[in-house]
This record gives sequence, structure tokens and C-alpha cells, in this order.
Amino acid sequence: MWLASFFTFLLVIHAVAAAPTLEELRARIATDRLAGLAEGWAALEAGWFDDQPDARRSLLWFMGGAALGGADDAALERVVDLLNELAADDPVAGSLAGFLRGSRLLSLGQQGEGLVEMLQAANAVIGIDDPAIQRIASGELCRGYTQARRLEQALTHCQRQTSLAGETDDPPALAAAEHAEAIVLSYQGEHRQAAELWRSARRRFHDAGMPELSSRLSGSLAAALLELSEYDQALEMAKEAHEQALAGGSPTSIAMTGEYVGSALLGLRRYEESVAVLERALASLEGISYPGIERSVLRALKVALTAIHGEYDPRVAELGARLDALMTTHPPAPELVETIDQLEAIVRERTLDLRIRQLEREAELRTLALETATREAAQREAVVRNQRRAMAYAGVAVGALIAATLALVLLLRSQRRLASSLHAQAYQDALTGLPNRRAFTERAAELIDDSGPGARTHSLMIIDLDHFKRVNDQGGHPLGDDVLVSTAHCLRELVPGLAMVARLGGEEFAVLCPDSGLSQARALAEQLCRAVAGQHFELGGQPLRVTASIGVASLSTDDHRSLSDWMKQADQALYAAKSAGRNRVESQPD
Ligand code: GH3
Ligand code: MG
Ligand code: MG
Repeated sequence: MWLASFFTFLLVIHAVAAAPTLEELRARIATDRLAGLAEGWAALEAGWFDDQPDARRSLLWFMGGAALGGADDAALERVVDLLNELAADDPVAGSLAGFLRGSRLLSLGQQGEGLVEMLQAANAVIGIDDPAIQRIASGELCRGYTQARRLEQALTHCQRQTSLAGETDDPPALAAAEHAEAIVLSYQGEHRQAAELWRSARRRFHDAGMPELSSRLSGSLAAALLELSEYDQALEMAKEAHEQALAGGSPTSIAMTGEYVGSALLGLRRYEESVAVLERALASLEGISYPGIERSVLRALKVALTAIHGEYDPRVAELGARLDALMTTHPPAPELVETIDQLEAIVRERTLDLRIRQLEREAELRTLALETATREAAQREAVVRNQRRAMAYAGVAVGALIAATLALVLLLRSQRRLASSLHAQAYQDALTGLPNRRAFTERAAELIDDSGPGARTHSLMIIDLDHFKRVNDQGGHPLGDDVLVSTAHCLRELVPGLAMVARLGGEEFAVLCPDSGLSQARALAEQLCRAVAGQHFELGGQPLRVTASIGVASLSTDDHRSLSDWMKQADQALYAAKSAGRNRVESQPD
């Protein structure tokens, strides 16, 4: 049982970093418990740490450990009260008070209540992100579960404490953690591993310049070596521990280390020496209630006495009766299984809560990242959309431009067509396709106005169908049109390339013969006259005879005559032909 108190004490030494003054007090408390406590009270009463709540809390925690180690209930109560006063502003202080209370209950053998206190205290600091506090919590739960013999849970917390201590460059803290882990292993029967850890812890304390702490672990190592039946080494360790306990340890530590020495001597069959040591140990427990230790001492003493005097010795019987009585008056406290399970569930739930919250935070971050990505993607999409829109607009614009160009081309083409059609309309006869009067007049004027070198003679003929009115009247207008179209074709066929055949209107045609004298023109006119008459038309199954009268007039550019004059002359010739009986050619001048 003393190990638990001792462990708390060790833990205290390394729990919280502090200012130099606090550090001095810490060292003082670690080496001289009573003096350290006294100096601690003095410091608190002087108000040295009134403006440093964390340092004040740490000091109280160290002092609480010292009070526990010395089984000084009055001091412990005072420390717990002061920590609880701080708890209003500082939940950690409340938890530390809980750990101290739980430790005391555990050291009194009230394992269930002690563990409940510790779990509540651990619950209160579970979310606090401070490695030092978490190490204290792990260490306390390690010890609480160890005391309650829930070794699996204990080992988990002990190993966590060892690992948290290993993360910091604090050999004494690591040694304390190894010590706590070794206790669990020894309870699990893993004495070899436990002994190794204790040896390691002793070395660390020693190397850290804390030989007194190193030798305090000798008791634990002795117990492990006893289990391994390595009595020589066990005796050596046990003696070291016992001497230290006698030099200023608590009655319980004197009794417990005495029991180790006695047991080692028992193993070495040094019974008399063993009995002497064990009796002293039993005496040190006089007036103090530590049933667990008392039981161990009584058992060892009984074995030693039996070895010397045999099992029927009255003293052996007396010890047996005392042991039985102790078991009746101080049975192992029933564990508050239900409460412990409940609190464990809360711890698990809270741990889970924290994990969930962490996951939620991660999820939030992921959601945030997702939102940012989505926003960026939307922005990129918007840019792409705008580009596409711009391209679409450009496309539409280009399309429109192309369409407009096309339309323009088509328009121009149609304009051109229209123009050419207008031109055709203006210069072409619709029925026969021959140049019309306007074309004829312009061409004739050109010939007259031509002022090239030397005089030129041009001839002109006007051709008028004879009695055409009758054709219309007898055969109808369409027949008249056919006759006109056919005659135009006939004239066109016969007139040479350079000459121009035109329809002047009605049934009247003209032929313009550039560079043709009158006789040449007359010859052509005769030919034309015969050709017209040679055409075949029918009317009501009967052949229809169509003839034409032609008046020819020639002009020399030297004469400077007008077109109307020239045409009038041709008309006069035509009139002469009509008068002379039609279907003939007349010319002016003859
Ligand atoms: P003449 O021998 O004295 O020239 O007698 P004509 O009947 O030929 O002369 P007139 O001037 O009296 O008659 C011309 C006729 O030509 C009148 C008109 O109906 C007809 N005519 C004029 N243009 C067209 C046309 O484009 N198509 C048809 N079918 N008839 C037309
Ligand atoms: Mg006529
Ligand atoms: Mg006529």
C-alpha cells in the first residue's frame, strides 16, 4: 500500500513546470517531506503565490503528495480545501483535489470510492490540452485501477503515462512512470519485466542526482526479486529500503520494508533474523490501521515461527487467530462496480465525444475546402461560360457578318440582276428579245456622232409588216405575237453580225447597217423582204401569207444630218413601198 502513496509523491515532483521558488519548494518536499510541507505552508501564508494561480496550484499538489505520503490527514484535508477554493476558476485544481482524495481512499483500502473519485477527477480534465495535466490524470488512473486490481485498464493508463513522460526530457518523471508500470506488471505476475523496469527507474533517479528516490524503489525491486526467488539480491534491496524507511519513512513503509527483509531472510532460511525483523515491523504498525500491510507481516511472521517452532506452536496459533480476526474486521472493501462502470462509460463517451468533435472539425475543414473548391470551380465555370458566351457572340457576330456579307452579295447580285433586267427592259423588246427603239436610237446616234478620220456611210432600213391588223383581227393577238417573234428571228438570222436588228414598236422593225452603202443595204433589204414573205403561217388550216414593206435610207457622216432626219427619210421610202403595193423595198434617195 505504501507504494501507492510513494508513487503519488514521486509524481508530484515532476508534475508541473514552475518558477525557481516553486522548484526549490518542490525539491524540498521531495527530499524532506515534513520540512517541505512546513515551508509550503509558510509560502502560502506569506502569499508568495497569490498572483500566480498555476504555481499556487502546483505547490498545493506537491504538498498534497507529501501529506499523502506521510499519512497526514489534517494536512491533506487542508490542501484539498485550498485546491477546491481554486476550483471555481480552475477546473484542474478541482481535479487535483479529487485525485488526492481518491489516493487517500485507496491508501485506506477503499478502492471503489477511491477509483470513483479519481475517475471523476480525470473526467473533469479529459478535454484539457496540457500534457502535464494529462500525465497526472493517466498516472492517477494507472494507480487507481492498479489499486482496484483492474490491471488491464491500469496497464493502459500506466503505459500512456510512461509514453507521455518519455516525450518530455524529464528522466525523473519517466522513472516515476516506469515505477507505476512495474507495479501493475508485478500484480500480473510479470515479475521479471517489473524488476527490469524498477532497475531502469532506479538508474534514472540515480543519474538524475536523486539517490534517495533511487533507493526508495529498492523496496519494490526487493518484492519482485522475492517473487523470482532471488533472495540474496532481494535481501540487499530490502535492507536498503528498510534502512531508508527507518531513517524517516512512514510507519507503513517501515512495516512493509521490514516485511521484505523478513521474507528475504526466510528465503535464505535465516529464520531467527527474519522473526526479529518482522516483529519490529509489526510493532511499527501499533495504533495505525493498515490492514493490508499488517496481514502481510503477520503471514510472514507466521511462516518464520512455524519454521522455527513448528505449526503447533502457540505463537503460531495466536498469529493465525489474529489474521482471521483481521480478515473479519477488515474485509476487502466491496467495489463500487456499478458506479465505476458508469464512470468508465462516461470517460469512453467523452473520449468518443472529443473524437467526434475532432472529426466534426475535420469535416468542417473538409466542407470548407470543398466549398472553396466548388466556389473556385463555379468561378472557373463562369469564366469559361463568359468565354463561351463571348465566343458565341463572336460566332453569332461572325455568322451575322457572313450572313450580312452573303445577303449583301445576294443583294448585289440581285441588284445586278435587277439592273441588268432593268437594263434589258430598257434596251430590249420583251416579246421578241430584239433591241428596242431606245437601243436602236442610241446606237444610230453613236454612228452619226462618230468623228473618226474620213467619212463613213451607214444605211438604215425600216421594216413594217403589211396589213398586220388583219392578222390580229383574223387570227387573234397570240397569232400576231407568233408572227412578230418568228419575223424577228428571221431578220436576226439574215442580218450580218455588225448590223443591228431592232423592234421599233408594234409590227415595225429597223435594221442599222454600219459602213453600208445604199445599194448594199437595198440588196440586204430585198433579201429580208423575201425571207419574211417566205415564212409559213397557218390560219384556220389555211396558209397565212405575211409580207413586209421596207424603206431604206443611207447617211454619210460628212452630211451632218440628224437621226430624226435620217429616219424620216427611211420612213418616206417605206411609205413609198406601201404606196407602191407593199411587199417591196424602196430607198431614199433612189
Ligand atoms: P399597213 O399595211 O398599212 O401597215 O396596215 P397595218 O394593218 O399593218 O397597219 P396599222 O397601223 O393599221 O395596224 C397595225 C396593227 O398592229 C395594229 C395593232 O393592233 C397591231 N399591233 C401593234 N403591236 C402589236 C403587237 O405587239 N402584237 C400584235 N399581235 N399586234 C400588234
Ligand atoms: Mg405600221
Ligand atoms: Mg403595217
